[in-house]
This record gives sequence, structure tokens and C-alpha cells, in this order.
Amino acid sequence: MRITIAHNTDDATLKVVEHLKKRLEQKKDVVFDAKYPDVVITVGGDGTLINAFHRYENQISSIRFIGVHTGHLGFYTDWQVKDIDKMVDALFLREPESARYPLLEVELVTEANEKMHYLALNESAVKRISHTLEANVYIDDNLFENFRGDGLCVSTPTGSTAYNKSLGGAVIHPRLKALQMTEIASINNRVFRSLSSPIVIAPDQWITIVPNSDHFVMTIDGNRIDLQNAKMINYRISSREIRFDRFGHTHFWSRVQDAFIGGKDDFI
Ligand code: NAP
Repeated sequence: MRITIAHNTDDATLKVVEHLKKRLEQKKDVVFDAKYPDVVITVGGDGTLINAFHRYENQISSIRFIGVHTGHLGFYTDWQVKDIDKMVDALFLREPESARYPLLEVELVTEANEKMHYLALNESAVKRISHTLEANVYIDDNLFENFRGDGLCVSTPTGSTAYNKSLGGAVIHPRLKALQMTEIASINNRVFRSLSSPIVIAPDQWITIVPNSDHFVMTIDGNRIDLQNAKMINYRISSREIRFDRFGHTHFWSRVQDAFIGGKDDFI
């Protein structure tokens, strides 16, 4: 089994990584391979896992992820440090069940009709830093609305607890293959009108944003791409998915409860 460990550089994390490496070295079938791993174990927070996802996104179909959190319980990092030995043993004891979560396929079409593709785990947002963004929004190639405001965000179900939630979007269970679009500070008056509520589209549908503004920013999981000659951006659910080893996986609603409400773990 080819394994790599991706981690942040916090003191607490480095201690955990050292222990994890020792435990893995005791297993005879382990090869540390950061180039073509079968399993990527991340130690840190959700941000650490998102970085690792982008590092290996071209090999995403052949990789399983395991997220260990060294801070608070995360949405992608739900293994606790105290359970690391159990996790290492479980890796070798049985064929792991996996949880597969949808990813967002982003297609950027330039004015010269060049196409660039990106993959997002959480979301992609389109926004302007100064002045408003004006854009036509299409669903399945049908004009839906003319948006004016700070921007728009399209998120995956697992990304629904991140930026999407801060924008008033709903939290969506990751077993649902659906994309959600939320508005960022839309202007709604007699002149400009958009829906003003988040929308959730079906798995076979797609959203197209055609900006009427030059110079804007597109983010992919928080990473910024400055755009000047973009004709349109198409968002749809990717045919690829991210796969997590499921053993010990915390119930999704327990993670939501723990992160945002606090309280005891009632879900099994
Ligand atoms: P960051 O500072 O690394 O992350 C911001 C916070 O979002 C961190 O606490 C992170 O958790 C948490 N987070 C990441 N993915 C999450 C998820 N799926 N569900 C719940 N919380 C999640 O920010 P960044 O590097 O610029 O961007 C990474 C992600 O952070 C973006 O994809 C975006 O969704 C989110 N973000 C949110 C806001 C907002 O809500 N206003 C603003 C910027 C970015 P950890 O501490 O465990 O890493």
C-alpha cells in the first residue's frame, strides 16, 4: 500500500505525524510514496485536506483520503488523534468501505473560446473586489436572471458548510448530488432584480455565469484566479468524486452539530 501523509506545520500536528509515521513503518506492506499514493492521510484541518486534494486532483479516481484533525472536528477531517492506532490497524485489517462525495467541475471559456477546467471540493465563487459584478445567470442554457451585486458562489454538498453557509446557503447532506448557488450581497431594487435566495440544482443540470463586467475574480476553494477575458463559466457536478475511507466516519449531522451548535453526539 502506497501511503503519503500531508500535514500542516503546527507543533501539535508534527508530533502526530511523527507517531503516525512510526506506526505505519511497523506495517510491512507500507511504502511511503508522495507521487502516486493509494492513500493520502492528512493531519491538520479541513484546509490541509483541501490543499492535499488539489495536489492530487489529477489522480483523484485512484486515491482514498483519510483526514485526522489536530484542531477542531472538521468536515473532511473527522479522525481524532486518540484513534490513530485504531485507524492504522483498520487500514490493513479489512477492505475499507468508502464514502464518495461530489465535486464541482468548473469550465472557464475565454473570449478566444479557449476552455480551462478546474475541480473544486468546496466551491467556486465569482466576485469583484471593487464595483459591482453584473452577470447573466443561465440554468441549462436558459436565461434565469440578471444578477448585480458582489458576486455568486456555487458550492458542492460538502462545501455547503463552508463559504456557502456564511452566505445564507443551506447545509446539504453530501449523499445528495446537488449544486447550490448563493448570492453575495445582491442589489434588489426597481432596476435590478435577482431571486435573492439560494438555489439547489439537480445532478444533471448546470449553471452558466456570463459576466458583463471586465476584470473579476474567480476563486476555487479560496484560491484566487484573476480573470480579464472570460466569456462564461460553466458549473456542473463532476463525473469524478473524492473518496474517503469510511471506518470510524463521523455521522454528517453530528459534525454539523459539533461545528455550529455544540452539544452531545446523538447521531449514529
Ligand atoms: P481558510 O482560512 O483556510 O478556511 C476558513 C475556514 O473554513 C477554516 O476554519 C476551515 O476549517 C473552514 N472550512 C474549510 N472547508 C470547510 C468545510 N467544507 N466546511 C466547514 N468549514 C470549512 O480559508 P481559505 O484557504 O481562504 O479557503 C478555504 C475554504 O474556506 C474556502 O473553500 C471557503 O469555503 C472557506 N472560506 C469561508 C469564508 C467564509 O465563510 N466567509 C471565507 C473564506 C473562506 P479548518 O480550520 O479546519 O481548516
